[in-house]
Amino acid sequence: VSPPPSLLHAFREAVARAPGRTALAYFDGRIGYAETDALSDSVAGHLAAHGIGRGDRVAVMLQNTPHFVLAVLAAWKAGAVVVPLNPMYKAGEIGHILRDSGAAALVCEERAWTAYAAGAARGTAVRVALTASDRDFQSRNDPRVFAPAEPDAAPSAAPGAVPEPATAEPADAPAPADLTAVARRGHPAPPDPGLTAADTALISYTSGTSGTPKGAMNPHGALTHNAVRQVTGHPLPEGATYFALAPLFHITGMVCELGACLANAGTLVLAHRFDAGVVLDAFLAHRPAYTVGPATAFMALAAHPEATADHFASFQVLSSGGAPLPPALVERLRAAYGFYLRNGYGLTECTAPCASVPVHLEAPVDPASGTLSVGLPGADTLVRILDEHGAEVPFGETGEIAVRGPQVAPGYWGLPADTAKAFPDGELRTGDVGFMDADGWLYVVDRKKDMINASGFKVWPREVEDVLYTHPAVREAAVVGVPDPYRGESVKAYVSLRPGASAEPHELSRYCAARIAAYKYPREVEILPVLPKTTSGKILRRELRDRG
Ligand code: ATP
Repeated sequence: VSPPPSLLHAFREAVARAPGRTALAYFDGRIGYAETDALSDSVAGHLAAHGIGRGDRVAVMLQNTPHFVLAVLAAWKAGAVVVPLNPMYKAGEIGHILRDSGAAALVCEERAWTAYAAGAARGTAVRVALTASDRDFQSRNDPRVFAPAEPDAAPSAAPGAVPEPATAEPADAPAPADLTAVARRGHPAPPDPGLTAADTALISYTSGTSGTPKGAMNPHGALTHNAVRQVTGHPLPEGATYFALAPLFHITGMVCELGACLANAGTLVLAHRFDAGVVLDAFLAHRPAYTVGPATAFMALAAHPEATADHFASFQVLSSGGAPLPPALVERLRAAYGFYLRNGYGLTECTAPCASVPVHLEAPVDPASGTLSVGLPGADTLVRILDEHGAEVPFGETGEIAVRGPQVAPGYWGLPADTAKAFPDGELRTGDVGFMDADGWLYVVDRKKDMINASGFKVWPREVEDVLYTHPAVREAAVVGVPDPYRGESVKAYVSLRPGASAEPHELSRYCAARIAAYKYPREVEILPVLPKTTSGKILRRELRDRG
């Protein structure tokens, strides 16, 4: 089956096939396919009435809520390009992305608008604001879902009230309209924009674990390719239930959760933002068949005192993607809860996965390094390993991973020089170092830029982290290079411990020294209560490096 041109086409097919099926489930609420269609039509009509049309950018800054999905579908129905924004961003980050993308509309939480997003939108091209109020996200049956307002957030308007512009709001920010009210208004939809596979669906700003965010342009056809071809490497029955563990504002959630769900006319279970207890309860309530998240989310679920094998019993596929997966975690999860966590590798620049572990196989572990394979390249995808001159290296040798395929973005928004560097001749240079074995299994060693140079010896943090993860007391581990007057750089590990476990730093250092070469083991180990992460769950080595 060839993928539809866009996820909007896939959604419309699902509406026609199963209008009454639940499309979105949010705690005790359910929205059917036909209703999702009608609500997003009305939002699309609002955008179109404000002059937003083909190619305009609509920034969407929301957690995993039905509102996120309505806003995305509405933007595509109007022919616009979605710019997903992390709701944790504050004024400076929002302002940069709004300016860089030239967004004409911003959809966000009402309190975020009042507290800082309106200020960030000032002087940008934003002329339409749609806000969702706290009451929309509150769940009657689970008060944990909605954390209390952050100290810098102003109180939200009373239920049902049209928000008054706050006094601090700059004069030139547009007056926000309530997203739920707009969705329920029954505004006529704009005419079909006739999206094609080549049209840009998203401008996805990289998560910023290693520098200033750049906007990758993901075409509609790249999304549907990965939603249909890559994720159906994990075939599920039509109408299956998908759990949104990865945030939808991140490319993995957008494609492997929302995209795959729409392409399969399934039900998408949303639970605001990650909270291990809430997620485990939702697993029991909704019995999902599929989910994907970063390894850190699975570490948190596994460490939760209430987790049992039953919580995971309904899953046909559980995938880890977007960040390294330590083999020790895979074995720990299998032993404790009886499931096999499938690895998958991807980047924002290739619209989420470009390699994954097919459903009937398990990923091999490289005997020499102990690295777990990230899987096999996906359908129609060519993965090559290149030396520093751009020539392909033999099987088993390490080099930079390069990807060519229908999911690869044509480049970065407004950055021709960066595009030429990262996508020479349309092939993505990932900045990751890896190797491929003779059977075609791909292994990611580490990010090129995270290599530690200790006395001229190359140390890849991942290898040291994988060893730390085999220690029974270790919950999270991150290894960085710190300046060393004698060696240039030396290896330092930051770890957090499993609940109830104890270990001394020198003990962990000795544990590694017994298992890896003398130049690789961490001379220094620091134990933190928790390691810093992006909201998509990636451990921020950069932040730890800055601590020294
Ligand atoms: P930035 O580009 O701003 O640093 P980022 O690289 O985290 O942000 P993403 O596109 O979200 O942006 O992440 C892609 C990166 O995540 C890959 O380049 C790779 O380093 C890492 N990654 C993804 N999946 C895996 C995996 N299965 N194993 C190891 N690393 C992975």
